[in-house]
Amino acid sequence: MFGSMMMRPLKIADILTFAAEVHPHGEIVSVRTEGDVHRTTYAQTAKRVACLAHGLAAQGAKMGDRVATLAWNGYRHFELYYAISGMGAVCHTINPRLSAEQMTYIITHAEDTMLFVDLTFVPLVQSLRNQWPAGLQIVVMTDRAHMPQDVEALCYEDLLAGQSEHFDWPDFPEETAAGLCYTSGTTGNPKGTLYTHRSTVLHAMMVGLSLPSALQPGRKILPVVPLFHVNAWGLPYAAPLTGASLIFPGAALDGESLFRLMDAEGVFSAWGVPTVWLGLQGEITKQGRLPNGLKDMVVGGSAASASMIEAFEQAGVNVCHAWGMTEMSPVGTQGNLPVHLEHLPIKERVAIKSKQGRRIFGVDLKIVDEDGTALAHDGIAAGELFVRGNTITSGYYRNEDADAQAFDNEGWFGTGDVASIDANGFLTITDRAKDLIKSGGEWISSLDLENAVMAHPQVANCAVIAVPHPKWDERPLLIVVPSGSGKPDVAELMALLEEHFAKWQLPDDVVFVDELPLTATGKVSKLTLRKAYAEGTSP
Ligand code: ADP
Repeated sequence: MFGSMMMRPLKIADILTFAAEVHPHGEIVSVRTEGDVHRTTYAQTAKRVACLAHGLAAQGAKMGDRVATLAWNGYRHFELYYAISGMGAVCHTINPRLSAEQMTYIITHAEDTMLFVDLTFVPLVQSLRNQWPAGLQIVVMTDRAHMPQDVEALCYEDLLAGQSEHFDWPDFPEETAAGLCYTSGTTGNPKGTLYTHRSTVLHAMMVGLSLPSALQPGRKILPVVPLFHVNAWGLPYAAPLTGASLIFPGAALDGESLFRLMDAEGVFSAWGVPTVWLGLQGEITKQGRLPNGLKDMVVGGSAASASMIEAFEQAGVNVCHAWGMTEMSPVGTQGNLPVHLEHLPIKERVAIKSKQGRRIFGVDLKIVDEDGTALAHDGIAAGELFVRGNTITSGYYRNEDADAQAFDNEGWFGTGDVASIDANGFLTITDRAKDLIKSGGEWISSLDLENAVMAHPQVANCAVIAVPHPKWDERPLLIVVPSGSGKPDVAELMALLEEHFAKWQLPDDVVFVDELPLTATGKVSKLTLRKAYAEGTSP
């Protein structure tokens, strides 16, 4: 027997409509690429979002169109999130740190019709646009006064000018696509996760419920995590839903700039990858104090070290170590302590907080052995981590090959992380089954680098592995077995790679060896290499 309650579709537009009515004074503060600081509220933003939706419609944008952004964290990017998905189109956030090749692939694969860019990225767009579909309409996210010369593009503020501040947000099924975000594959091209209105609204509610200390009316939250990186971990939705204010840092993400902004605005909670906190830690040490008002931080994207967690906790900042993935909207776990563990001495608290946290409601976790048999949650058994839930992808966007590898027979999604789960439900990521390197929160594919290196005539075999790095967490190391005709020239190898990869994706170092260690099945043993080079010795 079915119940008899109304079934209203969950829609992203309703979040901002709600915020404008219930939390109208919630603020959005942005450091702009134009150089100044801009302030607005949810109530004012809702009006501008309506104008923008009319402007988009006037340019021919319609339901299902993919409308892309290449932009920092700021109020115009936030407006695009709501106007694009609100009208039923798909907000496709592009990561500007990708190589030119990957960016071109993504824009072509998504079949983007429009691309909104911050002033910073205009030169990049100019250099690449002849490789992109001719019909792609470029819009520069600025006003007339700051519009660059000689650029064939529309001006963002012109799109809004004179438009109505009311938009009749259409109704459509909650499964309608709302957002698109590509993440790195272990090899080949990036893979797209296509979020729905339903998954996005549910995720906002789940995050609000799981991190209540930060997500409250009046709290100021600084997403250092970019809007182009899995929707800034859901903050542009969870913050207006709960009435928290958003402080957007723009392009300057160094410790000094972040400290200044946090200090000036009284940021309560800041969210970002460990590399960012390392920069902030340096500034805190220099100044001998915390930024004014900082009480809480969320760190994720890569493992946060116990020493970093301890330093912030000792200084009076609650550290929440979270884990997630693009394919999960992204939050999967959060590391705030359950009440019965809060009284523990600092060392013990830090040891627990160094784990990746407990699942949030709506995310099911299982760890399995090589045969797919579920393992005990005893804190000892470790196996590949699979996830299931309403905010988790059920398949990559137009990429059946990637789908075939991603799901088990029961439909759970394989994360490519190896983990254990303890009796309190705390997850510990112990290894990574996927052959990827994560540097400063961004991916580098080992296999893609290896394929490119193998094209050199003096390379017989090679492997690229992650080695620990104090600032970037991991950096790629290239290990080469030269062919009989002598060692390849390192500069020549780098030049070969530069054709396909962004500069920051290139290996920091190259070592030459006579042979590579193999596993029992004859594959290169990355585990042996990682262990050997992490300890600074060759195998
Ligand atoms: P995000 O960087 O937002 O977490 P990505 O999809 O780029 O999303 O990366 C997800 C992957 O990053 C995970 O599968 C895992 O390998 C790694 N990761 C994320 N958070 C953590 C964490 N807290 N500790 C260790 N690894 C993490």
